[in-house]
Amino acid sequence: MHEMALMASMLEIIQDQARQEGFSRVLRVVLEIGRLSAVDPEAMRFAFDVGTQDSVAQGAELTIQETEGLARCISCGTEAQVLAFYDPCPACGRVPLEIVAGRDMRLVSLDVE
Ligand SMILES: [Zn+2]
Repeated sequence: MHEMALMASMLEIIQDQARQEGFSRVLRVVLEIGRLSAVDPEAMRFAFDVGTQDSVAQGAELTIQETEGLARCISCGTEAQVLAFYDPCPACGRVPLEIVAGRDMRLVSLDVE
């Protein structure tokens, strides 16, 4: 389950920020997960619950925002929502499309005290 490794590096970022900015507790974590990122939000929730134990984010609320996959056709310039990397262009049927959004996971914000 690669979500565990992703969460571990996410928590390192959070711990670093806690040291730099001097907060001791995280109340809420907002994550953005692209639908093309191959990250399973449910697995991420599980990894969060397990991974935050004994950390500054223990007991924090996790909010996950899923972003749609968005791609642009290299041939005709059409932009379309896609569910997979190799979905064909809805206008001209060609592949591949250039993915412009929805392939990453990122930390959007932290509520701290
Ligand atoms: Zn096209």
